[in-house]
Amino acid sequence: MKIAFHTLGCKVNQYETEALKNNLSAKGYEIATDEGAIDIYIINTCTVTSLADRKSRQYIRRAKKLNPHSVIAVTGCYAQVSPEEAAGIEGVDIVVGNEDKMNIPEQLEKFFADKPVQNGSKSQDAGNALLDASKLNESVMSEYELLQNADEYFEIGIISEVGSRTRAFIKVQDGCDRFCSYCIIPYARGKLQSRPLESIVSEARNLIDKGFKEIVLTGINTALYGVESSFSDDIESVIKALNSLAGDFRIRLSSLEPTVIDASYIKKLFKYEKLCHHIHLSLQSGSDKILKSMNRRYSMDEYMQIIKVLTEFDPEYGISTDIIVGFPEETNEDFEESLKITENIDFCKVHVFKYSNRKGTTASTMRGQIDGTEKSKRSAVLITAGDTSAVRFFEKNLNKEKKVLIEEFVEDLGCYTGYTDNYIKAYIHKTHLQSEHFNCNHANNGTANSNHITGNRSSSDNIDKYVNEFVNVRLTEIFEDGMLAEPIEFETKEEKKMSNCIFCKIVNKEIPANVMYEDDKVLCFHDITPKAPVHVLLIPKKHIVSMDDVRPEDQELMGYMIVKIKEIAETLDLENGYRVVNNCKKDGGQTVDHLHFHILGKRQMMWPPG
Ligand code: 5GP
Ligand code: ZN
Repeated sequence: MKIAFHTLGCKVNQYETEALKNNLSAKGYEIATDEGAIDIYIINTCTVTSLADRKSRQYIRRAKKLNPHSVIAVTGCYAQVSPEEAAGIEGVDIVVGNEDKMNIPEQLEKFFADKPVQNGSKSQDAGNALLDASKLNESVMSEYELLQNADEYFEIGIISEVGSRTRAFIKVQDGCDRFCSYCIIPYARGKLQSRPLESIVSEARNLIDKGFKEIVLTGINTALYGVESSFSDDIESVIKALNSLAGDFRIRLSSLEPTVIDASYIKKLFKYEKLCHHIHLSLQSGSDKILKSMNRRYSMDEYMQIIKVLTEFDPEYGISTDIIVGFPEETNEDFEESLKITENIDFCKVHVFKYSNRKGTTASTMRGQIDGTEKSKRSAVLITAGDTSAVRFFEKNLNKEKKVLIEEFVEDLGCYTGYTDNYIKAYIHKTHLQSEHFNCNHANNGTANSNHITGNRSSSDNIDKYVNEFVNVRLTEIFEDGMLAEPIEFETKEEKKMSNCIFCKIVNKEIPANVMYEDDKVLCFHDITPKAPVHVLLIPKKHIVSMDDVRPEDQELMGYMIVKIKEIAETLDLENGYRVVNNCKKDGGQTVDHLHFHILGKRQMMWPPG
């Protein structure tokens, strides 16, 4: 059977859809890639605004229209908060709240067992949806209480494949207990459930091994990770643990709520070098009065302190935000405060939301609701200010060097695109990358797992070679929704090692040495601290770290060196014998990380005795 998915709303929903896809495809269902002949639709809805509700309903209707005989299962936050409404939509067969989302496969089985499919469809009747009566409570609040009963983090299985080949999301927690007065999410998502650290780490390890190079930590309110009394870890523990994992990858936080974290907490995160210099910090309003009425638990002052420590640490730290306009009782002056802050901070992105009245929230019954036209007016003004803010942020980044993770090749533009670590969309023209002068990190670096994913594709398509690679660039110009970028020549890992290597420096004549033999392949020079009357070192000119790093292609060179040792011994009059020593790596006593053979002669050697 062929299943199609539609996901609305946040990253957590997207993540959960991926988990369901994995689960269902493991059970033998076919995951649809187009809209043709779909047997089952799973629509993972959102309810954050009334627009989200509407879109959720539209998707449901659209699905039924495209494939009238399909079975339609509706889940997610809209299904959680308004189950009866969802069930009432014509064509809906199954309604599943968030707490049962991961049981959809079982629900489907049950559904088909109970009602044998006729012509592919169970029923066209509205209101005929499979609904657990006990879950149809009158008020949103009782839905919330129901969610409160789920007392463990819902283990939804390790996500190993997500849509993108470069960036992977890890859900670290569910739920929110902040109850911002406008927000329906705590009711839709229920109580706090943090995921055990080991489970997060093992998922991250798995994703990194699969070649993902950006791990995004996501949750309903990520900053609340571990605040349950049963937890000793917090979000910093998660970052710390992931930061210490080996591999060429970076960590991104999807957002950290200022309702939970403050400036001093933020500072603690600066030491994790894999953490991107980007943070989403929802402001919601620039007015202390409105913040209070929103139950946001911070003042503008405190918000500004966070901004201050971030920009002191890195002036180009990427800061994105959300702002709501038209919250009840928001006066022109309050709105001006939001506008002012948008003009004062160089946000990399401002998401503007018109206040949406959500039934069941405290704000929904507040006096002073603002009318739609006024909200639209304020929204338009703030969107413009937000765009200008982003332009200022881009300007700050002009000519700056950043690291980009390339995500895709855009045919029309002839450009690769990807994000800098401070979250600027970078456009790199293909001619720049393919120029001979430029070495992508990957080209010379054969680390075991780095290219598992691109490797499969690049053989057929050279264009893909740079996808999922880090490239250092200089940002040269503001372009569309991001910036043009030019790769800068940078040292590959191999080159970096070489430039710090004493023996490579001797080869390059940067350090003087008493050289006794040299050709195009090897160099022989006297040891500066001889252990015997004759003590020379023979090294390959090629930088090979140790005996342990000798590769099959070095065979010939190794044979050549052995022959050279014999010739050198002859020129040193060591006809009575000599000793050749190679110390390999730390336990072998190797102190210089460039393969070398010691040639010792004329006795007075410490070992073997005599
Ligand atoms: P290992 O301990 O790695 O087997 O050997 C390193 C050798 O390189 C030592 O014997 C040390 O004396 C020698 N060495 C280290 N630095 C220099 C240098 O700058 N010039 C020369 N000629 N020998 C060096
Ligand atoms: Zn070297």
